[in-house]
Amino acid sequence: MAEHEDHSQGQDVSQRTEKPTFSGKVLVAEDIEGNKKLIKLLLCMLGVDVVVAEDGHQAVEKALSQSFDLILMDMQMPRMTGYEATVLLKKQGYSAPIVAVTASAMIGDEEKCREAGCDDYLTKPIRRKELSRLLAKYLPAAQGTASKAVTSAPERTEASEPARPEQTPSQTEDVAESNGSLNWNRLIDEWGGQEIVSNMLSVYFNDIVENYQALCQAIEAMHFKDIALRAHALKGVGRNLYVDPLRDVAEIVERAGRARDAETITLNTNDLKRQTQVVLNALSECDWITTPETSIS
Ligand code: MN
Repeated sequence: MAEHEDHSQGQDVSQRTEKPTFSGKVLVAEDIEGNKKLIKLLLCMLGVDVVVAEDGHQAVEKALSQSFDLILMDMQMPRMTGYEATVLLKKQGYSAPIVAVTASAMIGDEEKCREAGCDDYLTKPIRRKELSRLLAKYLPAAQGTASKAVTSAPERTEASEPARPEQTPSQTEDVAESNGSLNWNRLIDEWGGQEIVSNMLSVYFNDIVENYQALCQAIEAMHFKDIALRAHALKGVGRNLYVDPLRDVAEIVERAGRARDAETITLNTNDLKRQTQVVLNALSECDWITTPETSIS
C-alpha cells in the first residue's frame, strides 16, 4: 500500500496539530489497513515513533530485531495471531510491555490476553484519550511536556484540545446525523482534531470501496473465507467510524461467512449494500475531505 504517502500524512498531523506528548518507539501489529493508519496517525500525533507489522510473524521478527518501548498487538491477525505471537515472544524472554488490542470486550477476553502474556489491554475502536492514558503508563514524556503529560491524563484539557474546524460542515452534519451515518463531531472528539479526521476519512472511503467490491465478488462466488475476511474489514470500518448499522450487518455477514451459511449471507447482502452506500454518501457530501467521485454498484 501507499506507505510513503501515509508516512507523510502522519508527519503532517503530528507537526501541525499539537506538541508531541510522549517519546519512544512503538511496534504496532495490525492487519486491517484502516486500523493500522488510524492508530499510526494517533501515535504520531502523540509524538511516538511507529513501526508497523502486518501479522504475528512480522511482529515477532521485528520485535526481536529492533528495539521498542512498547508493542500494541492486535489479537486477531491472519497467519499468526496476536496470542501466538505474544506467547512466542514471552517464551523467548521478551521484556518490553505487550498491550493486547482487541475488539472483543467479552467477559474472559482480557484474561485470555493476559494468559497469553500480554501486560495490558486496550479495546477497539481506538480512542485518543484511552491511548494517551495507556502510553502514559509505559512511555516517557516528551521533553518539555513532562509533568503535564504523565500525570492525570485528564478527560478534557481545553488548552491542549485541537481547535474545532472553522468550516465544520453543518449542512453535511445535519444530513449525516439525521440518517444515522456519520457524526463528525464525535469523530473529531474521539480522534482529537479535524486534521486526523480529514486524513482518515479519505482512507476509509477507499477502504470501504475496495472491501465492498471484493465482498460482492466473494458473495457472487460464495467464497466463504473471502466473505468473512472482507466483511471483517467492513465491520472494522463501521466500528472505527461509530456507524453501528454498518458494523452490525457486516458482523452478521462475517459470522455467516465463517459458518458457511449462504442463506444468511444472501438475506443480508442488500442491507449491507445499503449501509455501505449511506456511509459513502455521507463521506462524499463532506466538503472538507477529499474523496474520489466513486459510487458502488
Ligand atoms: Mn485484526
